Amino acid sequence: MSDTGTLLIRSRRMVLPDGVSEGAAFVRDGRIELIGGYDLQQEADQTVDLGDLPLLPGLVDSHVHVNEPGRTEWEGFATATRAALAGGVTTICDMPLNSSPVTTTVAALRAKAAAAAGQCSVDVAFWGGAVPGNTAEFAGLLDAGVVGFKCFLSDSGIPEFPPLSRAELRSAMAALAESGAPMIVHAEDPSQVTEPAGPSYDAFVASRPTVAERRAIETVISAAAFSGARAHIVHLAAADCAALIASARAAGIALSAETCPHYLFFAAEEVQPGHTEFKCCPPIRYAVNREALWRALGDGAIDGVVSDHSPCTPSLKGLPDGDFRTAWGGISSLQLGLPVVWSVARRRGFSLADIARWMSVFPADLAGLPTKGRIAVGHDADFVAFDPDASWAVRGADLLHKHSLTPYEGRTLTGRVTRVWLGGAEVTPDDPPRGRLLARGGGPLGG
Ligand SMILES: [Zn+2]
Repeated sequence: MSDTGTLLIRSRRMVLPDGVSEGAAFVRDGRIELIGGYDLQQEADQTVDLGDLPLLPGLVDSHVHVNEPGRTEWEGFATATRAALAGGVTTICDMPLNSSPVTTTVAALRAKAAAAAGQCSVDVAFWGGAVPGNTAEFAGLLDAGVVGFKCFLSDSGIPEFPPLSRAELRSAMAALAESGAPMIVHAEDPSQVTEPAGPSYDAFVASRPTVAERRAIETVISAAAFSGARAHIVHLAAADCAALIASARAAGIALSAETCPHYLFFAAEEVQPGHTEFKCCPPIRYAVNREALWRALGDGAIDGVVSDHSPCTPSLKGLPDGDFRTAWGGISSLQLGLPVVWSVARRRGFSLADIARWMSVFPADLAGLPTKGRIAVGHDADFVAFDPDASWAVRGADLLHKHSLTPYEGRTLTGRVTRVWLGGAEVTPDDPPRGRLLARGGGPLGG
């Protein structure tokens, strides 16, 4: 598969599935062939000794809106995957919207793959879309390699990607059950969402209350129980739903949940008037909610952390005097997820092993990519050397996202990606792109 030969890489802080320890990984043809102690002796074309610098498995970001083809002016495969690489993300899973066409048919998946081919700096897999009336497409899309399906229960903001009703969610999940592929759900109940009473951020938050997430999650739990299909809640923002998710799981329902860096880092109290770069749905809630989200991550009620990188053109954000009622919702953060989450996690006593569990292992498992997300024998040699003590200030203009606008502008973060390997080859964003298009199961898309 690869021309990378053999590599021996050592670190005194290797983040392995069972914790952080001294170790060495021997890589042949892009795969990890052997893991041993730090002093492992093995003839290799190249030997890298990181010393005390931690080595993480490459991150898997299972929630990225690339938007190409069709809305490439918002974000595209070349810019998104270069930003991912710079941020230590070696695999992304592209969302079925807001590209045009949306990925709800095999033909649309082919168009997406054709647009991505040859310009991806990291590996890329694809979610299919579940919309009213397209369950007949599911089998074809799964055969063609999508990793699962995404649906909305409320307005997606894109007319060609309408939400499912409760009944449609049930039948869509029933159609998926046998495949084992997950239905991932944007969980806000439209009956609990209102028009904001004014232009302020507080009015926006009040228009999308935690009960909207709760009612939608109850709908998902009931559909999962009915169908037996695996369900996943994307971008959980309402921490008071964590107990509901944990109890459904305890009752045997296949349900998982992710949250996002912005919910763990920011709080509504700090969002200034007009700063619609902070707008996303569900909204960034108040500090007390953020504390509870961290507790839910710590006790395992929330499984993973992924970016929900969802940029748009600056004009759609309406800045500098943004209106939270009309601005496009979505936060740009693909390149920043690792240092953002680490900056807060380390203060709270979490380790790099927790980071790997949330940001590599879980999303790889969710997307059915068995050779991703772990430094383990048989896995792809996707590695990130990460300086956990480096402190630096975010400048949007220095990021590789298509647009520089980010709510993290000026924030000081802790932790910096220093080197990245993809399939055993050290790579930088300036190298010719060597990312592959992946299908569920980890093989090549369309292969
Ligand atoms: Zn999203």
